[in-house]
Amino acid sequence: MAVVLQKEGECKGKEMARYTGAVCRLCRRSGEKLFLKGSKCLTKCTLEKRSSPPGQQQRARRRRLSDRGLQLREKQKARYTYGVLEKQFRRLFVEASRMSGITGENLLVLLERRLDNVVYRLGFAESRPQARQLVRHGHIMLNGHKTDIPSALVREGDTIGWREASSKTEYYKLLAETVESRSAPSWLALDTKKLVGRVVSLPTADDIEAKLDGKAIIEYYSR
Ligand code: SF4
Repeated sequence: MAVVLQKEGECKGKEMARYTGAVCRLCRRSGEKLFLKGSKCLTKCTLEKRSSPPGQQQRARRRRLSDRGLQLREKQKARYTYGVLEKQFRRLFVEASRMSGITGENLLVLLERRLDNVVYRLGFAESRPQARQLVRHGHIMLNGHKTDIPSALVREGDTIGWREASSKTEYYKLLAETVESRSAPSWLALDTKKLVGRVVSLPTADDIEAKLDGKAIIEYYSR
């Protein structure tokens, strides 16, 4: 059974603080591509046309950041990449600190284990925001049960599939035709006929696709 670390900010009707502005601004703020819009990021990337940070005062030039500023930027980058609110992110940091091993790596692995990320990594969605929407709208089954909590953490052996009603949608039919061209990471297995994924093993720090510096994030919170 998957672990639910927190529901805060993710329950239907309670989501108030999630960022709903133009996601490309988040990339401009981070100074790099965070791939928040799926395939559009490969063809029509705003950052390639306009790389200055958003905001009139900052537009003139990107300021040289202090160590603290760099750590903050790395933390924000991870939050934007996985679409996690500050409060949730801090809770994950506390959880990562309690685990054995390197806290920075633990934190990234916890983020990678989120159900919405797994849906994205299986190729069921083009981006993490889209995957989160699929989960929240109740299209995804975790171990045979409908689960609408994007922050639920998967465990080894968990299965991720589709609700029967969702398998009749146009989205699902199109996905079934194209899923073979997508490849899942080695810690996940995908049955392309049934569109069911399985967690073969928990991810490690080497499996993290996004370029994130876990050490800098931990340093930010350790002050
Ligand atoms: Fe970021 Fe994608 Fe927008 Fe480019 S197109 S700025 S990668 S969200």
